[in-house]
Amino acid sequence: MEKLKLYNTLHRKKEEFKPIEPEKVKLYTCGLTVYDYAHIGNLRTYIFEDVLKRTLQYNNYDILHVMNITDIGHLTSDADEGQDKMVLSAKKEHKSVWKIAEHYTKAFEKDLKNLNILFPDYHVKATEEIEAMIDLIKRIEDNGYTYQSRGNVYFDISKCEDYGKLANLDLDNLQAGARIEVDNAKKNPHDFVLWFTKSKFDDQEMKWDSPWGKGYPGWHIECAAISTKYLGDHFDIHCGGIDHIPVHHTNEIAQAEAATGEKWVNYWLHGEFLIFKHHKMSKSRNEFLTLETLKEKDYSPLVYRYFCLGAHYRKKLNFSYESLDSARESLKRIRDKIVHIEDNLDTSFGDAQYIKKLKGDFISQINNDLNMPGALAVMWEVLKTDKIGNKEKYDLLMDFDKVLGLRLEDSRRIIKQKKQEKVNTDLVEKLIKEREEAREKKNWSKADEIREKLDNLGVEVRDGAKGTEWRIK
Ligand code: AMP
Ligand code: ZN
Repeated sequence: MEKLKLYNTLHRKKEEFKPIEPEKVKLYTCGLTVYDYAHIGNLRTYIFEDVLKRTLQYNNYDILHVMNITDIGHLTSDADEGQDKMVLSAKKEHKSVWKIAEHYTKAFEKDLKNLNILFPDYHVKATEEIEAMIDLIKRIEDNGYTYQSRGNVYFDISKCEDYGKLANLDLDNLQAGARIEVDNAKKNPHDFVLWFTKSKFDDQEMKWDSPWGKGYPGWHIECAAISTKYLGDHFDIHCGGIDHIPVHHTNEIAQAEAATGEKWVNYWLHGEFLIFKHHKMSKSRNEFLTLETLKEKDYSPLVYRYFCLGAHYRKKLNFSYESLDSARESLKRIRDKIVHIEDNLDTSFGDAQYIKKLKGDFISQINNDLNMPGALAVMWEVLKTDKIGNKEKYDLLMDFDKVLGLRLEDSRRIIKQKKQEKVNTDLVEKLIKEREEAREKKNWSKADEIREKLDNLGVEVRDGAKGTEWRIK
């Protein structure tokens, strides 16, 4: 079997995946900042991470997966400037920050379910792990990597030998303040806050006691603290979108390695952006689409999932309704074919060598840094070939779907549900009544004509003792 290779941002190359413990993978994925609904760009990243997880499972690994819920500390810039996203949203919606967090966390979890994304073993609210964050800051402080300035605790990047290694940051050539707002409390513009006690957010409702005073954590400490608490000081894979490379993940590494004195995570994987109207889809541009918007336009969440599988996760993906239409059309064709296969299951045996080849091809694609466009091509080959029997096809497709996650086994039900949504019940009832009247008058030709109309609408009519009943075919 082709070995699993993943592109590791840390070394800028594809590497064979080797877990720390045999047959076990410890995985951390950065969660959503719950100040608003997830947009479909965010969801592209969660779909990529789900494909990674399913591919690891397909390779027989047992996975321990942790994801945080950012309900504190994420400012409008990923560094320390701007406003607190949660506070801004609470003001806008005239609600408490806690209510905001609760509402958008629920909405996000519903999105994950609708996209058939496997749930993390732990989905952890940052506000419930303040103690772990304080503990980690203490460890970093004990090792001499912090300083206090104007009430805040800062991480001192000059103490790190290899700060910025993930992003290949060339600090010497980055002018102070060129990319980051100059904060006179910092020794170096790239230093970042571990704990705020004094900040521009006096109206911040979420505050906790700490050895450095009442306040709240910076955003980067939360992921480092939650991941190490649940997965240990050293674990296998950490993921997020590419925007997290230069600041968030760079700072997470600096903190964790300062605390432990050891290399932290072995593989860093990053998903490219979803592009909308020539820009990264983002909330700050105020032009973002949610899964609900797509549903209102009659695109099911799994159509969006299929659309995302059509591009490699390390390539930009342009969103357009035309491409979403073709994804919907393709998925419909797949489902129709599967129902046809189910209705014609046979016992004939096809070319065993060819079946083995198809399975091998699929594994080669997914194990080649999650090449999902390639994996979909193998799935289409299975759907189209006449060299193997229907039962064999069906088994292969269901096996592939463990990774694709398109709910292929539910195809019949999904098609039926779609038809049901489309049937105009008022019209059907009206036609049934007209048909009954025609039958009473023994106008059989008219009754047959109406039955045919109903048939064309996808409705089956049955005349029984209790009168006429109908159902969607
Ligand atoms: P946030 O809530 O801002 O922390 O974002 C949640 C996840 O979505 C992170 O992993 C981001 O890197 C990712 N993300 C944000 N914008 C996009 C986008 N346009 N396309 C793909 N992923 C994105
Ligand atoms: Zn994170």
